[in-house]
Amino acid sequence: MEQITFAPTFAGWQRAARRALARGIAPEAVAWEELGDDQPSLGIFGEEADDSGVDVSAFRVPRSFVALAESVACHRDPRRWGLLYRALWRLTHGEPRLLDLAVDPDVHALEAMEKAVRREVHKMRAFVRFRAVAHEGAEWHVAWFEPEHHIVERNAPFFRDRFAGMRWSILTPDRCAHWDGEHLSITAGVPRSEAPSADAVEGLWRTYYGNIFNPARVKTRAMRKEMPKRYWKNLPETAIIPALLARAPVRVERMIAASDAQVVRPEEWELARPPAGADWDALRDAAHSCRACPLWHDATQTVFGEGPRPAGLMLLGEQPGDQEDRAGHAFVGPAGKLLDAALAEAGIERGGAYLTNVVKHFKWEPRGKRRMHRTPGEREARACRPWLEAELRIVQPRVVVCLGATAATAAFGPGVRVARDRGEFRPSPLAPHTLVTWHPSALLRAPDPDTQARQRAEFVADLRAALRRREETRAA
Ligand code: SF4
Repeated sequence: MEQITFAPTFAGWQRAARRALARGIAPEAVAWEELGDDQPSLGIFGEEADDSGVDVSAFRVPRSFVALAESVACHRDPRRWGLLYRALWRLTHGEPRLLDLAVDPDVHALEAMEKAVRREVHKMRAFVRFRAVAHEGAEWHVAWFEPEHHIVERNAPFFRDRFAGMRWSILTPDRCAHWDGEHLSITAGVPRSEAPSADAVEGLWRTYYGNIFNPARVKTRAMRKEMPKRYWKNLPETAIIPALLARAPVRVERMIAASDAQVVRPEEWELARPPAGADWDALRDAAHSCRACPLWHDATQTVFGEGPRPAGLMLLGEQPGDQEDRAGHAFVGPAGKLLDAALAEAGIERGGAYLTNVVKHFKWEPRGKRRMHRTPGEREARACRPWLEAELRIVQPRVVVCLGATAATAAFGPGVRVARDRGEFRPSPLAPHTLVTWHPSALLRAPDPDTQARQRAEFVADLRAALRRREETRAA
C-alpha cells in the first residue's frame, strides 16, 4: 500500500493523482493522507498551478469529470479522494464513458456528493446574514456561517458580485472570505467567538419578517426543510418564529374574521395612518404593517416607493404587480423592464427618479395557479393616499409623471382620460408640473404592433418632456 500525502484541495489532489496515475498505482494500492489544514487556499482561484511535471497527455478525461471532481473536492467526507481516484483510474483504463452509468456505485456516490455540495452552496447563499460593525472608522459587514462542506471559497465570488458595494467578511470555522471593495481574499477559519453578535439591523429584519409572516400559509415541515434547524442560530428572524407560530391560530382566526368583516362592512375601511413627521425609513417600516384596507390580506408584502429623496422627478404607477409583490420592489416585472428601456431611451437614469405607486399592496384574483392583476378601486386608492402624501412631503418632486389611469386619477380626479390628456403638464395636488402618460403595462397589452409602437413612442416622448421640465424647474 502506497501512502500519498497531499494538500486536501482539488488542485492538491489533482497533482497527486496525476503522479500516481503516471506511476501506474492502482486505486486499491493507494492510501490518501491529507496534509494539515494550513493551506491558505482551496486552489479555486488558481494559485495552485500544476507543478507536478507529469506528462498527463496520455490521460484524457471528460470535462464533466473535472467539473464533478472540483465540486466533490468540496465535500467533507475524507473518502472522496479515494473515490475520485478510482473513477479517474477507471476513466483512463478502458471505461471512458463511466460517467454515463448513473447506476454505477462510484458514479452514484460521486453524484450524491456533488449534489450535497451544490445544495450547501445554495443554502449558504440563502442563509448568510451580515451584521454591521465598525472597523477602522468605517462600516464593515460580518456574517458567521457553519457550512457542512468546504464551500466558502467556491461561493466567495457570488457574494463579491452580489454585495460589491459593501465591505464584508464571511467567517466560518474552515475558511473566511473577505471583500474590501476591491479585492477578494481567503484566510483561515476562526472560532464563532470572533463573529459579532446582534446589531440594530436585526431588529428591523425581525420586524419585517414578522410583518410578512402569513400564519395562514404556515407549513412547518416545509419550513424546516427549506430552512434546516442548524442554520437557525445565525438567522435573526428565527428568534421570533416560535412566537409567531404559537400565535398563528389566533391570527388566522382574526384574519378570517377581519376578511369577513371587510366583505360585509366595507364602510369600516380606514385611511392609512402614516406616523406624523416620520422620516422616510420610518414611513416605509410603518407601511409594512398597514391594515387600513383589505388588500394587505392577500398580498405578500407592502411595496413602498424607492429612489432619491428629495427628487425632482417622481414616477407614479398604479400598484405593485405579481413580481413586485414577491420581490418587495416597485417596477421589477415585465412592465418595469419596459419602463427601464423607455427611461434609458429618454435619457433618464432610473436611480435619478423616485418610483412609487398609488396603492402599496398587490390586488389580484386567482386564475388557476396564477395571480391575475385587478385594478384597485377608488376606495383602495383613497385608503392608501396618506402614504403617497407622506412620500410627496419627503420627496418634494417638482415633476410627477402619472403612469396610467389610476395615477392620473390620483392627480386630476375621475374625469381624466389617459389617451386624451396625456403629454400635457398641469399643476395638481401632487406637484406643480404633473404629466399623464401611458402605464408601461398598457403598452404590453396593446392590441396590435402598430398601436404598441405608437404608444411606446408617445411614452418615451412624454418621459423626455418630463426630463426637460425637471431641468428647467431646477434652474428656476
Ligand atoms: S393598500 Fe395601502 S391602505 Fe391598503 S393595506 Fe396596503 S398600504 Fe394600507
